[in-house]
Order: sequence, then C-alpha cells, then structure tokens
Amino acid sequence: MKTSYAENHKLLERAVEVVTTRTAQRRSTLAIFDLDGTLFDNRTRTMFILREISEKFDSRVPGLAAAFSSFRDLSEVDYSLDVTLRRLRVRNPAETAFIKQEWAKRFFSDEYQKYDMPLAGAKAYVERVHKAGATVIYLTGRDVGRMLVGTTEVLRLYGFPVGVAGTMTIVKKEFEQDDEIFKKEVSEYIDRLGEVAAVFENEPANSNILRARFPGAASFFVETQHRPGAPRLDAGIIRIKDFRPPRRPAARP
Ligand SMILES: [Mg+2]
Repeated sequence: MKTSYAENHKLLERAVEVVTTRTAQRRSTLAIFDLDGTLFDNRTRTMFILREISEKFDSRVPGLAAAFSSFRDLSEVDYSLDVTLRRLRVRNPAETAFIKQEWAKRFFSDEYQKYDMPLAGAKAYVERVHKAGATVIYLTGRDVGRMLVGTTEVLRLYGFPVGVAGTMTIVKKEFEQDDEIFKKEVSEYIDRLGEVAAVFENEPANSNILRARFPGAASFFVETQHRPGAPRLDAGIIRIKDFRPPRRPAARP
C-alpha cells in the first residue's frame, strides 16, 4: 500500500487528542521520543566536526581540507562516516583513520550536541504533547557519562520541555551497552509508569521492539537516517517525514 504522508501526519494530531482525552480522565499517559534521527538531525553535528578537523589539523587531513571547496549540501552526509568520507573523496586510509578517531571524540561528547538541528516542527509538537498532559520521555542511546549534560542543554536551547514536571530523560548508563537491549529493558520499566500513547523512532529495529511492547500506542517511524541492514518495519507503524502539521488545502480565491 502506498504511504500517504498527509494522512500519516494527521495521525500526529490524533495522538495529541488521545493524550488530551486520557488526561481529562486523570489517566497517566506517556509519549516516548528517541533523539538522534528522530527529534534531531545529526548531520549538521558531523559536518561541523569535519569542518573543525579540516581546519585544526589541515596538514594531516589534506583530502578533507580539499573536500570543502566542493561540498554542496547535507545530502552528502550519510549515516556511516565511511560513506560520507568516500563521498567527500577522502581516500587515504591513514587520513580516514585519523579523521574517524577525532570525529568520534567529538561526536559522542556533551560539547558538540548543540550542532544538531531539530527536525521541522519537532519542538512545537513535543510541546503540544506535553501541554496536553503526557509525560514526555526522551529515550536515547546516548550515555550518561559523556552526553547527558549536552543532551539537556540542547533540548533547553531549542525550547523543548526538559527538566520540568511531565518530562523524563532516559540515557544509557554505559556507552558500550547495546541499543536494542537497552531500549527493550527500559521499555519494561516504562510500561509500569502508565499508558504509552505514542512512540517515535527512526531505527526500524527499535521501532519494532517498541511496537511489540506497546501495541496500544500510535507508533511513528521518522524517515531520516538509520543503521544499514535494518529489519523491515512491522505492520501498523506510521511513517512520517518530520513533525509539521498536515498542510491545509489552499483557500479558493
Ligand atoms: Mg535514533
């Protein structure tokens, strides 16, 4: 069946209505939002970091330094840094290894998360869900030791509800923890807190896990970037492009 994004985006509105109704009945409702690739586009973080590496270590990374003279736009940034570097025509293995090491130091750290860009409409939508009465749960594979402070900072920077009543941020204790096992375990805990009304993910594997755990929730899959070799998305999961409300038909003159 062909995906109708306009119809799917209407279901975003429906999810807010469900939260409003249940809150009026004094029920505890929850909405789960992943961060990377769901509420935030990480490609700007990667580009900022690559640009910094190309300037700071220009003599060690001549391929990367040269790439910026022909860099076009964010569509050149892939989920995999290897693919991105190939697209930028960085071919020297020693240079690639050096860039990857410097990139990882920065990408997985508090300081660089502010270079992520929120998806269109994300902040306004999360705010609406929160105001409707749901507890907003940011459920992310980022880790507490290196990334919790930056995560909180960037949510606050863009005006997402964070740190206040009706919000919760859940990150990994250890960076090395497997993402899927982490989300599976945490979802058992979340299940005890109340009724999950909506789930938002960009990784098909996580989306399927959360769909199975919370079959009564509206499950949204955000089509951004995800790990290569991901499983097929289970039936009933709703595909969206971003969080903008459905467009109203143009008024007739
Ligand atoms: Mg993600």
